[in-house]
Amino acid sequence: ERMVTGELQNEDASVELSLRPANLQQYIGQQKVKDNLGIFIQAAKMREEALDHVLLYGPPGLGKTTLASIIANEMGVQFRSTSGPAIERSGDLAAILSSLEPGDVLFIDEIHRLPRSVEEILYPAMEDFFLDIVIGTGPSARSVRIDLPPFTLVGATTRAGLLSAPLRDRFGVLSRLDFYEPDELCEIVERTADIFETTITHEASIEIARRSRGTPRIANRLLKRIRDISQVKGEQQISLGTTDHALDMLQVDEQGLDHIDHKLLTGMIDGFQGGPVGLDTIAATIGEEPQTIEDVYEPYLLQTGFIQRTPRGRLVTPKAYQHLGIRKEDD
Ligand code: ADP
Repeated sequence: ERMVTGELQNEDASVELSLRPANLQQYIGQQKVKDNLGIFIQAAKMREEALDHVLLYGPPGLGKTTLASIIANEMGVQFRSTSGPAIERSGDLAAILSSLEPGDVLFIDEIHRLPRSVEEILYPAMEDFFLDIVIGTGPSARSVRIDLPPFTLVGATTRAGLLSAPLRDRFGVLSRLDFYEPDELCEIVERTADIFETTITHEASIEIARRSRGTPRIANRLLKRIRDISQVKGEQQISLGTTDHALDMLQVDEQGLDHIDHKLLTGMIDGFQGGPVGLDTIAATIGEEPQTIEDVYEPYLLQTGFIQRTPRGRLVTPKAYQHLGIRKEDD
């Protein structure tokens, strides 16, 4: 298991529910998204209507599920949660939709992975709140219309471009979550420390924030590990020294890169003079799925300027050479 992946790991599951902010005010950062949603929520409440359907997109661990549950809290309705791959048949979706109460939030994570046949019955459900279900097969097949209560679909995906156009068009609100700034992550670390009932120095929080790849889930995970080490050392509060030492032990470098990032970058440098090199080739070189690299690892490397995307493939930047302490061949 990787320390610095934004994807949910087994070790996160036990604490995540207790760490989840309950309302927009407790949700740190993403100011523009919060401002927008706040207005839409208020307006829907004034009209006593269900909120428009919302699509949240961005890398894993940035708070999409959290925001979806906050929307339900703020609207004062139930939060129901499922995922694209979990809905195999249109009947599965029909069962969920017909059990909703008026105004409920249905959250579908990884919505881009809904089977096509399921996606198609979602269109009229989203647009006009009814389902067209075909019962039986062959000549005896008939279509049954089921009316649904008005509800809010909140979909989450890593990239909006993964959705088909007809599905994307049915969302009234599209919000992109960005990587968090270090000061926002620092606030998240300090909030989590409070919930854990541990004390951490400000410098230590800043250090964790700096090495968490702009991702709250990673910040919380690192804090959890560092807290253990600090406790075993008998510290009263988590110090910067212990934090540095623990992060080195966990092989998370000053920029939040780990051995896989290093392998990816040095693989591109050693094998392809730093690129440009295609995604599939990189994936094959380090033994990862191209989709995982594109959705999970690469966004942060692109954002921080360690790699660049060009029409001919990915390119390692001078910043990355410098960070790794490698001289470029033709310098
Ligand atoms: P995603 O659905 O995008 O993968 P989650 O919503 O599951 O991400 O968030 C991962 C963890 O990070 C959660 O445990 C949550 O407590 C924390 N988190 C995410 N965003 C925030 C935020 N803005 N403020 C505080 N904590 C957050």
